Amino acid sequence: MQTLEELKESVVLGGRQMIERGLVAGTWGNISVCSDTGDRIVITPSGRPYNELRPTDMAVVDKSGNIIEGNRPSSELPLHLSIYGARPDVRAIVHTHSIFATACAVAGESIPPCLEELVQVVGGGVNVAQYALPGTTELAHYALSALGDRMAALLSNHGVVACGPSLKEALLIAELVEKAAQIHAIAKQLGNARRLSDDDIQLMRRYYVKKYRQP
Ligand SMILES: [Zn+2]
Repeated sequence: MQTLEELKESVVLGGRQMIERGLVAGTWGNISVCSDTGDRIVITPSGRPYNELRPTDMAVVDKSGNIIEGNRPSSELPLHLSIYGARPDVRAIVHTHSIFATACAVAGESIPPCLEELVQVVGGGVNVAQYALPGTTELAHYALSALGDRMAALLSNHGVVACGPSLKEALLIAELVEKAAQIHAIAKQLGNARRLSDDDIQLMRRYYVKKYRQP
């Protein structure tokens, strides 16, 4: 079981990785992790550059969003809280504004289930949520509905939300969604973006969950 201090450290590292992997710029985007007990959420603070963040800068809230310690939480806290509330399988959330995935979100273009690694980690394609203003409970509501039982969704005219059973996996998913969005955009330009079959998607997802998720 990870302590609160360890969770804060992991969010600091995750923030640096988002910058290094080109998934966000400036202070946009946010990251959170949920404690094993489910009653504490560590989330990046509002409006602070990722490369300057320290563990003590993190916001700690309870599952209703009450601040327990630290700085003012990211303005997307309602999005994070809604997902943790509805999806007990999610323990970490990474919200990015990565370029190709956001281009799809601006175009209202879902990313089809077109690549082995995408369907393995996400569980299918990545749907675009209905538009709502950033930071609102409407955004959280629409994002949940676009997520369904999958691990990622696109937020219209905004960015990506990637979920995982761990922060490591949520970051990997954010990266793979960006890669799939880029490949999808290029494939469409070439004239034919073909998707995988539902049977193969289920097979690959089950294989991944069994091989990588169970001890
Ligand atoms: Zn955002």
